[in-house]
Amino acid sequence: MMFLSVGVRFEANVEALNMVETAGNYTKHRRVPYLVEEDGKLKTIYVPAISGESLAHAYQEHLVKEALRMNLPVCEDCHRGEFYKSMNKVHLQKKISPIPNDPRKIEEAIIRKCVVEDVGGFLYAEKPPVRRSSTFQVSYALPIKSMALFATAEPQLHARHAQLDTSSKKGNVSEQMIYYVETGTALYGFVFNLDLDGIGVSAITSEPVLGEEEIKKRREAALMALFRMLSSAQFGAKLSRFFPVGGITELVVSVTEHPFVVTSPIYEGYAEKTEKRLEVLKSFNEDYFYTKTSEDKLPEEVLKEVIEYIREKEYI
Ligand SMILES: [Zn+2]
Repeated sequence: MMFLSVGVRFEANVEALNMVETAGNYTKHRRVPYLVEEDGKLKTIYVPAISGESLAHAYQEHLVKEALRMNLPVCEDCHRGEFYKSMNKVHLQKKISPIPNDPRKIEEAIIRKCVVEDVGGFLYAEKPPVRRSSTFQVSYALPIKSMALFATAEPQLHARHAQLDTSSKKGNVSEQMIYYVETGTALYGFVFNLDLDGIGVSAITSEPVLGEEEIKKRREAALMALFRMLSSAQFGAKLSRFFPVGGITELVVSVTEHPFVVTSPIYEGYAEKTEKRLEVLKSFNEDYFYTKTSEDKLPEEVLKEVIEYIREKEYI
């Protein structure tokens, strides 16, 4: 058995990764209430945040690319980045027709046809309903606690200009449209978990649906998608004009036999705490692997080390 947990800290200056609403010419950044301590007292402040849904969407987009690169199946909807996930008959019929009555057969057909739904789960909301939990989990990205008071979401003024060639007597007029985009600046932390044992395995019977080689390839695609997402910083919205200035500052990864989640990187000393918690596992005779960034180890080197460890264990 193998469970992966990743803690990420990244600095983002002037980002618009997760916008929630537009009111007139004002686009708002997602914000969440946050409990912080100031002068020994607790208080609530509102800080910029990036939803787990937003990070999951980005991860699945990378998964599509990795799966296709490895010649693994991806359904038509997921290929387009529209993650309907076989939610109803219309979408399921593209994978299997006629639709069987047995939920196990429905799940199997979806797993076979699409790596994204195998790894990321789905909900078929018809009769009979079939639900498959995602094998990966992702938290919100939130400002790290000790610096949350300095995290900001400030509006930036932008103007779009257009020269209008009107045939009126006034001749050319230039038109200006003013708009505001709220941008966040913070040192963020989030956690990403991946249960490698769920891939290619039925959530209903706990039996493998695919052959061993196919399962190994899909696990590798799931790992590579994470690698690409982190190393390319391709996640979130508005990247074309608000690509965040910054990057990953710290990364910790644990690989354990049973589900184990690293201490959230929003806390100070999270890496040391994670290590101590893992030491306790060792006393129960549980094998684990742990690695993190350091002055001479870059995030990509950490991820490579993890992939090599998993390959050594013949899990991919
Ligand atoms: Zn799909």
